[in-house]
Amino acid sequence: MVKEIVCVYCHGTGRTPSKVFPCLICKGKGRISIEEDMVKCRACRGTGKHPQSKLTCLECKGIGYIKPSVRRSSSKSSKDPFPFEMKGSVLLPKGKVID
Ligand SMILES: [Zn+2]
Ligand SMILES: [Zn+2]
Repeated sequence: MVKEIVCVYCHGTGRTPSKVFPCLICKGKGRISIEEDMVKCRACRGTGKHPQSKLTCLECKGIGYIKPSVRRSSSKSSKDPFPFEMKGSVLLPKGKVID
């Protein structure tokens, strides 16, 4: 589900605080759409800005919210990370059938 929230980056003004350009996050609309299961970005505490540099937060890209499972999705391999299974009390390679 998608919901609309006030843009945290420009606080709904549609503009960046220091510049006359429209806000890049909401494209000047003042509102952005996020998915309902998204959580507040911890890196910027939901502000959309990096605490020190005041630039767009890299984690959430200025939205202030991120997907909870956004971490480590790049290193996904098709290989089974644990190709073993328990048979009774014995650990065996997966797919092996014993009587
Ligand atoms: Zn904005
Ligand atoms: Zn952030």
